[in-house]
Amino acid sequence: MNLINRKYTRLEKNLLLIVTIIVAGSLLYLLVQILGKFPENRDEAGLRKKFEKFAEVVQNHDDAYFYDNILSKSEKKVSREQFLIDASKRAGQQQGTVKTIQTADKITIDGDVGYVLVDGINCKDVACDQKTEWHVYRKWVYEDNVWHITITNDHPYCIRDNPYPMPPEFSRALSLIKQRLTQKYGTGKYWNDSLINCVEIQYSNLGNDTEGLFTFDSNNSSPEKLSILVDRSFQAKDDILTAYLLDHEMDHVNNYYLKYFNNMKISCYDDEIYAFESQLVFIGSLNSGELDSLVSRIYLMNTNDPTLSSIKLMANDFSGNAISRCGRNASTCYTNTMNDQISNMVMSSPYYQKQCSTR
Ligand SMILES: [Zn+2]
Repeated sequence: MNLINRKYTRLEKNLLLIVTIIVAGSLLYLLVQILGKFPENRDEAGLRKKFEKFAEVVQNHDDAYFYDNILSKSEKKVSREQFLIDASKRAGQQQGTVKTIQTADKITIDGDVGYVLVDGINCKDVACDQKTEWHVYRKWVYEDNVWHITITNDHPYCIRDNPYPMPPEFSRALSLIKQRLTQKYGTGKYWNDSLINCVEIQYSNLGNDTEGLFTFDSNNSSPEKLSILVDRSFQAKDDILTAYLLDHEMDHVNNYYLKYFNNMKISCYDDEIYAFESQLVFIGSLNSGELDSLVSRIYLMNTNDPTLSSIKLMANDFSGNAISRCGRNASTCYTNTMNDQISNMVMSSPYYQKQCSTR
């Protein structure tokens, strides 16, 4: 029988069309599957590309694509169906945000783990005139030749594992602060350990009554590298005084992270007031030998060292005023009186007035 010249019936033609559609569709599906699982580069460029896809998927609320192609295996704790239901519920609760824009700032890769520092914007209107900006580190893992995101509530401030090189006296001072604060108050008064890994502490000739300096320089600083400068006069001081100074500067570092990652509003004056209050808490945690050392230097040696003068002013003069007003027992009256005095000291200081006039 000659098939070529054979006339097809209408039914056969329709069947042929259906078979063709099914075969072509299956091939296309296979192609998408294969291309979709195409290995992604395990480097910064590869993760950046995947992140851009992620940002697009989030903006379009394409939750199914997110579950299938972006979410890490270890994060798939609920079924696909449940995930989609939960995601649409979450979207319904996101009131006031019309659009979320996420861009990758810095990308850090360590083996199979990658961190993307995200610059995020929540737009309150379509033109994005009203917006809130936020930052977060998003953690990715490279598994089965593809980058996958992990969703965790544990958003780190600092992703470095080790500190920058620093003179040993700074390491000792930081260690002393941690030891005394945790001995006295538990972990509540001590900043997160990892912060130290993102701070570079160096000596500098600061002069002009400046003993230490934490500044965010947009050219050289990033959440991964924050700079504290300590005046060289501290090379002749002991670990207690160095710790007293570093406690102040580390409190600024902690506040920087709270502002950057947690969107907390902390004014320039409050930043200083909190740093002084933190120093006072540190002095209160010292052991009796260390306190004796401070007391003998302040009263017997009649020193004019500015660090000792600062300790005397707050721990002796301010505290004396608070005790005479409120009594010796710890009370709200005592705390408020101390805070008022520290606040007055900062607000009336020409040094801080100048510093805070531009911030
Ligand atoms: Zn300060």
